[in-house]
Amino acid sequence: PQLINQIAAGEVIERPASIVKELVENSLDAGARQIEVRLERGGAKRILVRDDGCGMTAEELPLAVSRHATSKIASLADLESVATLGFRGEALPSMASVARLRIVSRRAEGEHGFAITADGSDQTPAAEPAAHAPGTSVEVQDLFFNTPARRKFLRTEKTELGHIEQLIRRVALAHAAVGFRLEHNGRSVLDLRAAGGGEANLPQRLEQTLGGEFLAASLVLDDQAIGLRLFGWVAQPAFSRSQADRQFFFVNGRMVRDKLVTHAVRQAYQDVLHHSRHPAYVLFFELDPRQVDVNVHPAKQEVRFREARQVHDFIFRALHRRLAGGTMAEGMP
Ligand code: ADP
Ligand code: MG
Repeated sequence: PQLINQIAAGEVIERPASIVKELVENSLDAGARQIEVRLERGGAKRILVRDDGCGMTAEELPLAVSRHATSKIASLADLESVATLGFRGEALPSMASVARLRIVSRRAEGEHGFAITADGSDQTPAAEPAAHAPGTSVEVQDLFFNTPARRKFLRTEKTELGHIEQLIRRVALAHAAVGFRLEHNGRSVLDLRAAGGGEANLPQRLEQTLGGEFLAASLVLDDQAIGLRLFGWVAQPAFSRSQADRQFFFVNGRMVRDKLVTHAVRQAYQDVLHHSRHPAYVLFFELDPRQVDVNVHPAKQEVRFREARQVHDFIFRALHRRLAGGTMAEGMP
């Protein structure tokens, strides 16, 4: 199992940001309203993710770090309609095989919490009583300490932190009602407060994550037809120096980087503005979950649409209409 776990780890854990992604998704699955991420040395030394979600019992803790023990899927039929972000039950055991993993967790009804430390060996660790507020803290230390070849691929602190920052922005845009904090080497990097629920909170979240200039310089779009909906913000390419990190496309709340989507978006910009260099946008696409497979690959952000052509054309037309019809807001550079 140790080896199998390390191989699985190769699939999902490329760098500190991959760990933060899995942990934050677990926190969201657990219903957290506030998620805190603390890093040391770009996450290579230490990653701590703390949430106020449902927590785990003393019995659940050892299961969480054993392979394929996911609590999120009861049958194959569930696979078709997984609403939660994770379902493979591989993330925590994979982490335990390439780093030192410690989890402290408490259910709301528990009198106190429990902790386990997984050392990557085949023995299932036992949970011991520990102090914790309702919720869960997962700590991952010394990433790749036992796989030096992979440790070499880690980049500078700054680069790894950059990846994590971008990840938190992404997740925070998809979950506007959840508060996020990011701290690096004891200093606050992001503090994204949640000011209410749902879509109403989105403009504020947009401002927190991408800045007021983006919001001021973009058009609001909201279009729906044949069971598909596309809404969000689109800005003209001239908007700012570096745009590559200002392209966010979510499918049913999950960030994707997909060829079909990118093509449709670029095509619309190209048609209306006669060039499609670095458009900036935050777009949310919603459709029946049975019409899309979001689990093409555990780590990649690709999706597969059942009606690919229809989806492409809908996205293209919705954007085209908005870009052509709306004059870009005042304040455009
Ligand atoms: P998956 O998320 O695919 O189920 P993971 O390895 O990420 O697999 O997590 C294993 C299990 O541990 C989850 O199914 C869940 O029951 C539990 N778990 C992990 N993180 C948390 C958390 N932050 N709060 C509550 N339960 C958690
Ligand atoms: Mg998970």
